[in-house]
Amino acid sequence: TFRALLSEQGADRKVTSTIQTLDDSRLPTGDVTVAVDYSTLNYKDGLVLTSGGGLVKTWPHVGGIDLAGTVFSSDNPAFRAGDRVVLNGYRVGELHWGGYASRARVKGDWLVKLPQAISAKRAMAIGTAGYTAMLCVLALEKHGVTPARGEVLVTGAAGGVGSVAVAILAKLGYQVVAATGRPQEADYLKGLGAAAIMERKELTEAPDRPLLSERFAGVVDTVSGVMFARALAMVKYGGAAAVCGLAGGASFPGSIVPFILRGITVCGIDSVMLPMTPRLEAWTRLATDLPLEKLDAMVVDARLDDLPGLAPQILKGQVRGRVVVDVNA
Ligand code: NAP
Repeated sequence: TFRALLSEQGADRKVTSTIQTLDDSRLPTGDVTVAVDYSTLNYKDGLVLTSGGGLVKTWPHVGGIDLAGTVFSSDNPAFRAGDRVVLNGYRVGELHWGGYASRARVKGDWLVKLPQAISAKRAMAIGTAGYTAMLCVLALEKHGVTPARGEVLVTGAAGGVGSVAVAILAKLGYQVVAATGRPQEADYLKGLGAAAIMERKELTEAPDRPLLSERFAGVVDTVSGVMFARALAMVKYGGAAAVCGLAGGASFPGSIVPFILRGITVCGIDSVMLPMTPRLEAWTRLATDLPLEKLDAMVVDARLDDLPGLAPQILKGQVRGRVVVDVNA
């Protein structure tokens, strides 16, 4: 048997979740069974745990888009019992049962072997949010955004993706401007390495002209909406913005002008179906470029039974940094 946070959707679409002991025969199909140590809470997990977010097709469901643990048994030649592994995305926790359980059965093709330097707990402190932050930084680097080119703006800075992006960029020598709606988190963000704090309200008025003064060599945007439109209008000639999130809504009131007069680039980031080669690159770089003491400072510890209470909070932007869930606690 294994222990899981089992979620069920009611007629009103509201999701309720309870801890249950399930027989191993309930595990989904897959060629690798993982003894899960830790999972985490991302924005998407918040959607699944409250309304399903249109992401889950069959109920009851076990959420958790991320998991880290040890291979328990494997029919996949690439994995052996005892291998330390991490899984992010591939629609696990949405279409397939996820990490909110002491055991998961998945496809070996979805698993990444954890770099030696990263423990299972820290892998979940990173989670999809942190791995996506790394993908954003890699995209900016590939577009020639170096520390010498100037400041980099991170929106939604006190959230999961934002916090990790701030810490990585600062470690790499960038001058990071952290935009947050929670100015009370200024000390936290400076502790992660932000050089300056920008209050969200400075970015919440739609730009009244297509170009504003050039300021940022690069942007990591987790919010979209007006903030992103305003940030785009401030990207310097030849700069780039890595966009991964929509915490502020899916559409943005932008103009084509920054693209055609300043030659800027927008790099779309998808972490979910990303092929294995760039995934491994991101995890390898996380092992060297994310300062672990900064990562530890972002962590809120939780148990499976804390998740139903935390889910609405992350959707309201009230969770700071990263939640790590000890699934066996
Ligand atoms: P999170 O921890 O909730 O962080 C989001 C942050 O955005 C909040 O902490 C808040 O930061 C800010 N925010 C929230 N609501 C806002 C609003 N209405 N207007 C302006 N700012 C707002 O979530 P996360 O896990 O970091 O994820 C962030 C976003 O990235 C989500 O949309 C998520 O779905 C997306 N994402 C996408 C991928 C991908 O593969 N593309 C992967 C991971 C995450 P402040 O309080 O500091 O302002």
